[in-house]
Amino acid sequence: MKNKKEAVVVFSGGQDSTTCLLWAIKEYDKVYAVSFDYNQRHRLELECAKEICEKYNISHTILDMSLLSQLAPNSLTRDEIKVDSDAPETGTPNSFVDGRNMLFLTFAAVFAKQKGITDIITGVSQSDFSGYPDCRDIFIKSLNTTLNLAMDYEFDIITPLMWLDKKETWELADKLGGFETVKNMTLTCYNGIMGDGCGACPACKLRKKGLDAYLRTK
Ligand code: ZN
Repeated sequence: MKNKKEAVVVFSGGQDSTTCLLWAIKEYDKVYAVSFDYNQRHRLELECAKEICEKYNISHTILDMSLLSQLAPNSLTRDEIKVDSDAPETGTPNSFVDGRNMLFLTFAAVFAKQKGITDIITGVSQSDFSGYPDCRDIFIKSLNTTLNLAMDYEFDIITPLMWLDKKETWELADKLGGFETVKNMTLTCYNGIMGDGCGACPACKLRKKGLDAYLRTK
């Protein structure tokens, strides 16, 4: 098992990034969590992130990214835009925020380099990517190369969930001893309801489908 000492986790307080945080806690001596405030409608997301970091005694930094909702208004930042209940047949869903993962990972990389850290962990997954182009492996590899060139530094963007579906993500959280934490303390729901959520939005449906599938295997 590797021990590369320190890592930065891009942390939203949702199911995926919390599972990544738990994974990082096992793999590294010290973990820094970085969250982004982009005027997301559900401020509770940042509260969840804060509480989870407190529970695990993780250093937590919230960076201001309010320009993101200024540039790219979408259903996660504006009340008047309703979240699509199903993925559209073409194009990206309206919960997609243009540039979000690229900007978050870039800022996380600047943050990491200041601390002499190379490893950056993100919970993106190509298996359940919901039509988000910036969750694909090819994008992550491309950005990794770009960041290395941009800062003349050997970053390593690590994606523990890239090839896992939601069922396998639940399984991993359970293996890491964090099943209850993920189930109760995270916020994935587009309607801003913690834990099991509203049950009706695409994020809740995906989460519940995975959870049910996982529970059936137990
Ligand atoms: Zn929901």
